[in-house]
This record gives sequence, C-alpha cells and structure tokens, in this order.
Amino acid sequence: MIIQAAYFDGKTSRRHAVELMHRNGVMVLHGDVRRAFNLAEVVVLERAGNRTRKIAFSDGAYLEVSDAASFDALMAEAGYREPIAIRMHHSWRWILVAAVILIAIVVPGYLYGLPAASKMIAKRLPEAAQHAIGREALSFLDQRIFAPSTLSPERQQAIVDRFKTLRFPQAGAPQYEILFRKSGIGPNAFALPSGQIVMTDELVKLLGDDDAVMGVLAHELGHLHERHLLRRVIQGSVVGLVTLVIFGDASSVVTAIPTAMLDMKYSRDAEREADSYAIAMMQANDIPLDGLKLTFEKLGKKSLQMGSYLSSHPPAAERLERIRLAERDSVGR
Ligand SMILES: [Zn+2]
Repeated sequence: MIIQAAYFDGKTSRRHAVELMHRNGVMVLHGDVRRAFNLAEVVVLERAGNRTRKIAFSDGAYLEVSDAASFDALMAEAGYREPIAIRMHHSWRWILVAAVILIAIVVPGYLYGLPAASKMIAKRLPEAAQHAIGREALSFLDQRIFAPSTLSPERQQAIVDRFKTLRFPQAGAPQYEILFRKSGIGPNAFALPSGQIVMTDELVKLLGDDDAVMGVLAHELGHLHERHLLRRVIQGSVVGLVTLVIFGDASSVVTAIPTAMLDMKYSRDAEREADSYAIAMMQANDIPLDGLKLTFEKLGKKSLQMGSYLSSHPPAAERLERIRLAERDSVGR
C-alpha cells in the first residue's frame, strides 16, 4: 500500500510531495525527499479537528497526510498501535465507560462509604481538634450573626442549672456547655463540636416553657453524643476534596467548613437520633413529653415561615408521632 503525503523539513515552509509506504517493517518516503524511519522513532500526532494526520520526526521535520482513512489502513498494515490514552480519548464508548465507572465508584462511596468514614474519623478526632473547630465556628458566628444575649443572667442560670440536674439517658454523655446568644437568624439552637450548645434568645422566648427548653437542649445533646456536626463537617470537606481532585475546583474545600456550620442541615437520620435521645432523656427524668411536643409544634409552624434551618428537621407531624409512640410504650411498661 502506498499513500500520498506532504513532507516539510521543519526549517523552510517548502512542501515536498512524497509517497509513503511500508517495506519490511520500515516506513519509507519516496519522491522529492527520500527518507526511511521506524514508527518507534516518530510521533504520530493526535487527530485535530480536521482529518489531516501528522507524523513528527525528532529533527523537526514532519509529514502530513490528508487522506486519514488510507493513512490509518497503512498504519494498521505496519502494525502501529495508537497509545491507549489517545484511542480512549477518541472513543465516545470509552468516555461513557469512564463516566459509568466514575459514577459507580463515587455515588455509593458518597452515599455509604463517606458517611461511615466520617463517623469513624469523627469518633477518633482528638479533643483538641474538635475544640479548635468549635471555637473557630463560634467566633465566625459571633462576628457575623450573633450579639450578646439579652436574657437576664438569672434566667440563663436557671436554665443551665436545671439541665445540669437531669440524668443522661445513656452512659458516655458528652461534655457540654450551654451558651445564649441574641441572633439575626431567629429561634435556633445547635451544638458545636467543642460541646458548646448555643441557644438563641428568640428560641427561649418562643418556647416560653422550661420543659420545652430542656427538650431542645436534650435534642442538641443527642447531636453532640453522635457527633453529628463534626461528621457533617468532615463529610463536607471530603466532598470538597473530591471535587478538587476531579474538577480542579478548590473553592469548595475552602468554603466547606463555614458552610456546614451555617447550613446546619443534618440528615433526617441524624435528627431522628437526636429526637430519640431527647425523648429518652425526658423519660429518664420523668419530664412530661408535652414540652417536647410543644417545641416541635412551635418550630414546625415557624419553619413554614422561615424555610431555613428548621426546615431540615423532620416535619412536626412525624416528630409528634414519635413522641406519641414513646408515650404509649411507657404507659404499657
Ligand atoms: Zn436537630
């Protein structure tokens, strides 16, 4: 097989008409220029937008072939194999396969592996690191969202003192500290990895009932017990790192931590765990579950208006149903 080609010496722009063929394992040029070469010593360039193929020599000379089909046939005859990356690059099938493999690894990893890994890391993260994350978060929030609490010191102390007298529903209760803040984000409460449970003045006022306040604090203690926020932060950072590796986007890593802190959206499972903890703690202390019911009802109504943090909690109806079940069980006992 012989095909037509154009040869350029790489020094002048002069075009030399040549014939390219394959003879006994060697590529041979005939015509204005005579040259023999091995496919191993040249670079066969990737197809560009047009159909022209190009062979580059190490001395700067190059060969152009406009009939790509004949060129491919000649190369096949000469036993040339394109490097695998180039072949894959040109095949949509490979792109599809690569996408499927990526999805097959990433999606289950994200859904199952990542939460499990985050839980494991969160359990093993040194106290000092957890405190550092919590302190960072609190000062971040204090600068942007919070103002000092306007609740009277007596009211604050009364809440803290009462919660301190309560028995924990399970062994291994986390260390905690209760803080009050006036907020620009309305009625809210959350637990930082450092063990600081922050409750906004607005929430204390909205609840207006001490049993209900105890219920919310117990719910937050449940989040602390399971290290939910810490797990979320770790998970958020990992997702950011993966995004960085796959898409080369660093911004997601940088924003992961404050976003997780502000967003505070726990999974429904996390909320159910925290609710169960709160219910168990109320029962362990013979506090009627009415307070917790009141909380869910009030927060449920509020979240419809606010559509923010609170909306991440399960619907009030679902949470109230759990309390109803818990009450029925305790009556039966
Ligand atoms: Zn919660």
